[in-house]
Amino acid sequence: MSTPTKYVYAFAEGGRDMAALLGGKGAGLAEMTRLGLPVPPGFTVTTEACKVFLATGEEPPELGIEAARALAGLESEMGRALGAPDDPLLVSVRSGARFSMPGMMETILDIGLNDHSVAGLAKAAGDERFAWDSYRRLVQMFGHTVMGVDGELFENALAAHKARREVSGDHELDSGELMLLTEEYKEIVRRVTGEDFPQDPAEQLARAIRAVFDSWNVERARVYRHREHIPDDLGTAVNVQAMVFGNLGHDSGTGVAFTRDPATGERGVYGDYLPDAQGEDVVAGVRDALPLTELKTLDPRAYVELGDHLRTLENHYRDLCDVEFTVERGRLWILQTRVGKRTAEAAFRIAHDLREERTLDADEALARVDGTALTRLMFPRFDTTPADVPLARGVPASPGAAVGVAVFDSAEAARRAADGEAVVLVRRETTPDDLPGMIAAQAVLTSRGGKTSHAAVVARGMGKVCVCGAEELDVDTGARRFTAASGTVVHDGDMISVDGTAGTVHLGALPLTDSDVGRALETGTATGPLTAAVLDGLAHADAVRRLQVRANADTPEDAARARALGAQGIGLCRTEHMFLGERRELVEAMILAPDDAARAEALAALLPLQRDDFTGILAAMDGLPVTIRLIDPPLHEFLPDRTELAVRLAGSAHPDPHERELLSAVERMHEENPMLGLRGVRLGLAVPGLTAMQVRAVAEAVVRRLRDGGRPRAEIMIPLVGTVEELRLARAETERVLAEVAAETGTPLDCPIGTMIELPRAALTAGRLAEVADFFSFGTNDLTQTTWGLSRDDAEASFFPLYLDKGVFEVSPFETIDEQGVGRLVEMAVEAGRAANPRLETGVCGEHGGDPDSIHFFHRAGLDYVSCSPFRIPAARLEAGRAALTGSAEAGDTR
Ligand code: PEP
Ligand code: MG
Repeated sequence: MSTPTKYVYAFAEGGRDMAALLGGKGAGLAEMTRLGLPVPPGFTVTTEACKVFLATGEEPPELGIEAARALAGLESEMGRALGAPDDPLLVSVRSGARFSMPGMMETILDIGLNDHSVAGLAKAAGDERFAWDSYRRLVQMFGHTVMGVDGELFENALAAHKARREVSGDHELDSGELMLLTEEYKEIVRRVTGEDFPQDPAEQLARAIRAVFDSWNVERARVYRHREHIPDDLGTAVNVQAMVFGNLGHDSGTGVAFTRDPATGERGVYGDYLPDAQGEDVVAGVRDALPLTELKTLDPRAYVELGDHLRTLENHYRDLCDVEFTVERGRLWILQTRVGKRTAEAAFRIAHDLREERTLDADEALARVDGTALTRLMFPRFDTTPADVPLARGVPASPGAAVGVAVFDSAEAARRAADGEAVVLVRRETTPDDLPGMIAAQAVLTSRGGKTSHAAVVARGMGKVCVCGAEELDVDTGARRFTAASGTVVHDGDMISVDGTAGTVHLGALPLTDSDVGRALETGTATGPLTAAVLDGLAHADAVRRLQVRANADTPEDAARARALGAQGIGLCRTEHMFLGERRELVEAMILAPDDAARAEALAALLPLQRDDFTGILAAMDGLPVTIRLIDPPLHEFLPDRTELAVRLAGSAHPDPHERELLSAVERMHEENPMLGLRGVRLGLAVPGLTAMQVRAVAEAVVRRLRDGGRPRAEIMIPLVGTVEELRLARAETERVLAEVAAETGTPLDCPIGTMIELPRAALTAGRLAEVADFFSFGTNDLTQTTWGLSRDDAEASFFPLYLDKGVFEVSPFETIDEQGVGRLVEMAVEAGRAANPRLETGVCGEHGGDPDSIHFFHRAGLDYVSCSPFRIPAARLEAGRAALTGSAEAGDTR
């Protein structure tokens, strides 16, 4: 027989492991009760009871009986009865979900007061004013929260009473005035609801509990849960606790204390104290709180006792804790504790210090930090929190802060940056054409596109600040200006500030400060406690991780930077980036070549340039693997835009014959859906000499490096393979050229040849491919597009926001790997590939390679490495280390 569900737990019956059932607050209260800390007694109604209520609209039938029994226990413990007319017990009713949702749900204080018990409270406290103030607060809170009266009606009445008495503060109203105000509040309740304010304490309690259940589904709570990825079906627990009062005069008060500074992580007790007040006054900011250290003078005994409790809690939880406390006439009560939220900086310092203090071991300390926090610490930031209203808000696509003049054209941005000007490239959206401007700019700002739009992905890859999808901006690139919703017009050359962490755009230059962490990561030298903490944490991650971390980089500078940041090679060198800029003419010549000879000539002109590129990159990564991918995008991406060209030709009296030729090539090569068109390996097979030129450039660069005494380790990668036949052909051509260069130079060349897995068919036939491949690299960008059957840029610009809003996606599958779909293909391909070729190396080079959650998945899937943009390497190292700890010491939820 199954035991009946228990819906109510006295604090003494619970514990810290029961947060799912009792909520975070309830579990904390229970734990403190067990530890013998001075917690006002009470009980918790479970999240299970809430779930029943949410599902059926009714409390479970047993709840009433269990709550009555728990209340009786509480009354006997306190020696007072709820709402008794002489010396009443009063209780607070507070929500408390599994994950903290600050300020999202309801709290009701002073339950138990009515027309009779208010006199009893006045007598017991020896303070009539206090009793009436408590009663009017109850009518106000209960009237609003439980009975649905517009809160403004109460506020207006309060203001009228203050005006009549010619006072400005609530506390200046005397008991007589508060008595009148309470009567007026009750009248408001009656008028609006047609019902009297309930005088029965038991009814007050039952209805307050129900109101907390209901508040789970208020709009702001739902919105908060979506943003924080908290499931909608968890429900909230409800804590019913004996009231203690911080507003009983100068020997009372209330405050918040932290065991360490949650902003900096510095050791030492930190917090605020507000004398003669209740917790709600602190939140409402009625008066300015004092620094906690003032309590030392005001009430030395309470201060020392609080310090002891904080130490007890931190030792017990082995982490930063925060508490809410109340001093009632010199007696200290702890009302709440939890493992405290903290900034990224504090997270690293606290983990490091706790390890030094031997509270945590190195694995546990590593589990307390994460890659997202580390990335946040690496970007420059604005020195101050800007007080001005931003010009616009968009998607915070790539963090950091940048200042520059607005420029609306890529070439212009490149030109002005070359002249030493700091520029922000502003576009409606970006395309590969904008790359030179993006490289030159301090920041990229677009009015269209999401977190994985072209602008966002490329900017993140370059570690460049980016705000995209700032839809309130009307960007007019033709007129070289944008207009904000406020009507402010920003012209070409006007100074703006872009905050890629907050996703905001500001007029003018906000002051900037460099990141010490970014510098320390590149130099490997600590310059203070924070940088020491970061470097220590990373060193441990490196020691425990199994996954290697490589970089996506395609210039020697990026390669060197990536290496300084800890990259163990290059997992993806996109060679098409080398076809841009001044070389475009050569690429055009190759595309327009009328015959094989002309094409060979154009390719021959590209060869030395590519060879130089590869030589530089191999030098920067000397001794480490460099995976060079043969050209992937369709060639027409390197030609001018069809419409622009057509318009230009149509408008010209003497059309340029070269342009006319270009237009006909563009038209010939036009594809409705280039993502699924002539690209990747298909291109290499279709354009004679293209693969050979690229392979030769790689091979000759390797020979050059060998002759210079280097240790080049080039690997050649074939993109967008769908069938083993494609790979066989591409491989044969590659091997032929490698052998040719080896023979010509008398240098044996050992160059692994592998394939990207970025089509479902490749994943499904991985066993066959592995017979012809030395390695697999999962291109999860394309694999996600092709598995879902959608084009990323189009989808993000149209229905993705809706899908995220409706909860179809919790997070974009382009940001975090879709484990069940795309991830499943990865797992299958790894398994089949290894079975066919036990020496097969496997890695991932899509955007997911730098995403913390995805890295944990790739670790579990058994890949050998992840590859990501240089800026994400430290975070990837850290997460690879944390992933290796999973199952041993990984901390619970860091939410
Ligand atoms: C991929 O598809 O995941 C990949 C790395 O290739 P690209 O993003 O260049 O298409
Ligand atoms: Mg791809």
